[in-house]
Amino acid sequence: VDTAVRTVDVAVIGGGPAGLAVGYYLRKAEADCVILDGQGAPGGFWNGSWNEYWDSLRLLSSAEHSSLPGWPMPEEPGQERPSAQHVADYLAEYERRHDLPVHRPVTVSEVRRAGGALEVVGSTGTWRARHVVSATGTWRRPHTPDHPGRELFEGRQLHTVDYRRPEEFAGRHVVVVGSGNSAAQLLAELSEVAHTTWVTRRPPRFMTGDVYGRVLCDTATRRAQGGTTHGSAGSLDDIVMVPSVRRARDRGVLEARPMFERLTRTGIAWADGTEQSADAVLWCTGFRPALDHLAPLEPFDADGRIPVDGNRCLREPYLHLLGYGGWTGAASDTLLGAGHTAEAAVDRIVEDLSAG
Ligand code: FAD
Repeated sequence: VDTAVRTVDVAVIGGGPAGLAVGYYLRKAEADCVILDGQGAPGGFWNGSWNEYWDSLRLLSSAEHSSLPGWPMPEEPGQERPSAQHVADYLAEYERRHDLPVHRPVTVSEVRRAGGALEVVGSTGTWRARHVVSATGTWRRPHTPDHPGRELFEGRQLHTVDYRRPEEFAGRHVVVVGSGNSAAQLLAELSEVAHTTWVTRRPPRFMTGDVYGRVLCDTATRRAQGGTTHGSAGSLDDIVMVPSVRRARDRGVLEARPMFERLTRTGIAWADGTEQSADAVLWCTGFRPALDHLAPLEPFDADGRIPVDGNRCLREPYLHLLGYGGWTGAASDTLLGAGHTAEAAVDRIVEDLSAG
């Protein structure tokens, strides 16, 4: 650990797509900055080293619609939708090409006020910065709802982050919970080798045709132009009809049942008294932002959220948040959207820095 406190204008926490996009614009503005990333290798979530993702994971969007600013993602030969490895390779090359000042592995344990600046405490040392951008993603905080009976169920319960491949469930009955893309894709591949029941809190919505990339573009561009994001051609939560999901629909397995009331020792039970026995419950129930390192700044409101104006934290104006979902910029939790949002956030930071 380096005990000397280093001084920079901007410290970015997180070296995934969001942190790299911020780094690109900061570099372009010639701001003095550093990117602190907790992982040993480039790529953020996509390098899979912290918690591997499932074997079949690919982008939903094409390379063309998944690029960060300053260098488009190359096509992956023969693939319409790039593999996770291709995305990780792209991000590694991206930070190399733009010579981004990434330090890794550096895990930030806290950000605190120190005089007129912010101090970022990392595992290898401390940085004093005028502005801090937090871009730590959500993958480190899987969310499983505290549903009645969870402790009773004697089968296996796992979250999306724990799932690897369908073969380990061959011949079993798996309940898949969730109405998003992960749930639909994992249900699709599981249903080829296992019996499945799909339960969702709200009826799932399917995108018509392959418009995911276009929706990303629409929302991110409208936001960048200062327009509203309402009324675009679909929501980012809608299910994209990738080939495996289309095949599952054709086999009749994409029928969702309403959320069950409770888990039992042997399965699940709905409010009307019907039950389904199951060997496993797969919770595809999303993630929460990884924000613990910001606690010393007391940025949270009574509901545990951080109120923001654009990307700027209302309770700490030198703190900016990016990449955590719509509340930190339209589609900021996608590759393309992160770029658009980063540009707006960096504009404000640079304006502040030049005002002295
Ligand atoms: P991450 O990629 O999670 O990076 C965060 C980084 O911060 C990590 O390297 C982590 O180690 C680091 N970090 C966390 N905490 C700390 C700390 N305390 N100190 C230091 N470092 C820390 N986007 C698309 O555009 N198209 C798609 O089709 C698509 N599909 C997706 C499918 C899945 C299953 C998931 C999970 C995401 C998908 N995305 C897609 C989103 C996407 O590409 C990005 O992963 C997302 O934008 C998040 O990027 P990020 O930089 O905010 O976070």
